[in-house]
Amino acid sequence: MIEKKYRLKRTKIVATIGPNSLSKKKIKKMILAGLNVCRINFSHCNHENALKIVTTVAELNLELNTHVAIMGDLQGPKLRIGLVENNSFLQKGDMVVVKHGHNKSNQKEIFVNYKSISHDVKCGNKILLDDGKIVLKVMHKKNDILDCCIMQGGELKANKGLNLPNTHISIPTITNKDKIDLDFCIKNKIEWIALSFVRNGQDILDLKEILKKTRSQSRIIAKIEKPEAIKNLNNIIKHTDALMVARGDLGVEVPTQKVPVLQKKIVRAARRNAKPVIIATQVMESMTENLAPTRAETNDAANAVFDGADALMLSGETSVGKYPTRVVRIISKIILDVEASDERKHFNKFLPLKSNPRYISDSICYQASEIANQVEAKAILAFTASGYNAQKISSNRPNAHICVFTYNRQLLNTLSLMWGVFGFYYNKFDSTDNTIEETQLILKKSKIIKSGDFVVNIASMPIKAKGMTNMLKLEKIG
Ligand code: PEP
Repeated sequence: MIEKKYRLKRTKIVATIGPNSLSKKKIKKMILAGLNVCRINFSHCNHENALKIVTTVAELNLELNTHVAIMGDLQGPKLRIGLVENNSFLQKGDMVVVKHGHNKSNQKEIFVNYKSISHDVKCGNKILLDDGKIVLKVMHKKNDILDCCIMQGGELKANKGLNLPNTHISIPTITNKDKIDLDFCIKNKIEWIALSFVRNGQDILDLKEILKKTRSQSRIIAKIEKPEAIKNLNNIIKHTDALMVARGDLGVEVPTQKVPVLQKKIVRAARRNAKPVIIATQVMESMTENLAPTRAETNDAANAVFDGADALMLSGETSVGKYPTRVVRIISKIILDVEASDERKHFNKFLPLKSNPRYISDSICYQASEIANQVEAKAILAFTASGYNAQKISSNRPNAHICVFTYNRQLLNTLSLMWGVFGFYYNKFDSTDNTIEETQLILKKSKIIKSGDFVVNIASMPIKAKGMTNMLKLEKIG
């Protein structure tokens, strides 16, 4: 049984499952420590292991009565160099040639897995290698060759990534490998699909089209990691279901000092549009090897919670790290302490827009949060078929727990990513009074509410019609 405090934390945890956390025992321990979403990173995880994760999480959800979701993270057009000759050191000030190919690279020639590199990259553009440790500047272009000056040198290492911050890359965002991984996600009803290196809203629409054709209910997470995505953020937010601040590549593609402000802007924009947002990469990096995080990591994680992120994501810390359960437990404790603190921010309010066709339900969701805060209600109870209400209430970041009842089973897991939201299966919608009474009973049994607590109920009347939320009822539990 999950300890109540871990079950009731508002900010969610996403953890990447890898060689050091693949067993059922490890995943179970992580769930008990507060894990909400298991990430499959298709850059490293094969389909055999991915299937193991899907099966294990489904079994554990039944055993533990949880709704842990799965995120399938597609690799996208990741640019890389291949093998490298021994002792290849790039000296600052020297020249080096960059071109497409699969030969071994050395200090004179670098071969890249990107066919149109010499066409797409312009003179003066920068080429960054190995997370920006090596910086090259393109001086001349000759046929299929880029002559580059080494601006920042270092040891050239095999299979490292390559970033082109000011270049428009002509490779499609959804690659052939992504299509195969996507097929796996759709077949296995994976709740969240993360799309890497998103550049604009059209990238999201292209993925949506594939999901629509296959009648998939999977939702899309746009990974924000390119300057082009920052430029097109509003259009991306309009079409995506959720966002990820992918600080790994973002911190290479834009100057590192810009990332903290961008993180705050993306979180605020996501909340304004009621789209969940995840803060990713190097959250507890040092715990890949160490028993405890650094003070700076603890502060960074806490600040993401203060900002109002929906979820924090762990990558190498839980996939290849030595202490996958411990890192989830520590991050849960950081979250719980911030959430209990008086220092917790009063989040900006985003008033519902009259122009939105769902203005009535938006207004009810907004007021439910306001009243819940005012009377210090323990829970807001809502019903949803699509998750819309859950997202709307969650975006207001109320102090009450957001308890959402639905008859859509796949949605139950999907909701696990959203700040403060707890999903419950419920499929009897006969009369408003009965439904409210029964759902309150479920929450009493789950020990989320007790006699004497205030609760805010919202629903659509008549309840049988399952229409737009249009009713709010404030109650003291007897
Ligand atoms: C990132 O770049 O921060 C990220 C999450 O993407 P990936 O781990 O797929 O490189």
